[in-house]
Amino acid sequence: TEIKRVQSLQNDGVTFSDIGGNEDAKRSLQDIAKYLGTPEKYKSLGIRLPKGILLYGPPGTGKTLLAKAFANECRVHFLYASGADFVEIYVGVGPKKIREMFKQARSLGKCVIFIDEIDSLGYKRGSGTNIEFDNTLNQLLTEMDGFNGSEGFTVIGATNQPERIDPALLRPGRFDRKIEIEVPDLDTRKDILKIHLRKKRFFDEEVIAEIAENTEGLNGSELENIANEAAFDALNNNSEVKLADFEILGCHFVQNQWRCFIKLF
Ligand code: ATP
Repeated sequence: TEIKRVQSLQNDGVTFSDIGGNEDAKRSLQDIAKYLGTPEKYKSLGIRLPKGILLYGPPGTGKTLLAKAFANECRVHFLYASGADFVEIYVGVGPKKIREMFKQARSLGKCVIFIDEIDSLGYKRGSGTNIEFDNTLNQLLTEMDGFNGSEGFTVIGATNQPERIDPALLRPGRFDRKIEIEVPDLDTRKDILKIHLRKKRFFDEEVIAEIAENTEGLNGSELENIANEAAFDALNNNSEVKLADFEILGCHFVQNQWRCFIKLF
């Protein structure tokens, strides 16, 4: 019953400056980090810490990165789990895994517990077909009810499908801070490309702007990939990354969204 995919990372090194765009999300998380740093100030004004934070939005837009940056800002451990890891056929195994994860968290001291694909928990609740999902979700809620956020535990859930989230998770006192993460707009795409290209010593603003303009619809993870492939190509040619390393083949409307096809020379 070991939870294989719960990872504990202390210094993954991701900070908010490694994340393009998402200014509102960063601000919201930084506010909570401030609370955790100086709880007395907030408590004296009767301000309560959100017990759980929900990041929702399309895949590859930086939800995991934001959670890691938050953990680093708070200088606490980062525990990673996927909701799907808890979905079990055998009665009692899902809840047991949840209990073990919180036990691990308590043994680490202060930490961020990140649960990706949190919509997998309780998905079919009420339909009567999968009671085990309910027990797993209930165990998560019990564990969350059992701690006070100012002890230094923060649960962050992430989902690409917020409409599938069990309403029980969204009640006040549970995931009561909800942060939307969107597909990057033009400025965000520039930001993301800059972040990934600066490490590769490429700073040409004009080229970055051109790539950003031609990549509408791409997410952060795809932009990172473009930057990486271009750098690979440049290194093979023993040169710096340059415009010739990006060839934008054009954009096509596919499955209701724009996709850009980029080929490297
Ligand atoms: P999923 O829903 O699929 O788990 P996610 O929203 O959690 O996706 P991340 O895992 O945070 O996405 O992002 C994947 C990778 O894409 C990151 O490691 C990073 O390289 C890049 N990336 C995504 N969004 C951004 C961003 N806003 N700024 C910089 N890099 C980004």
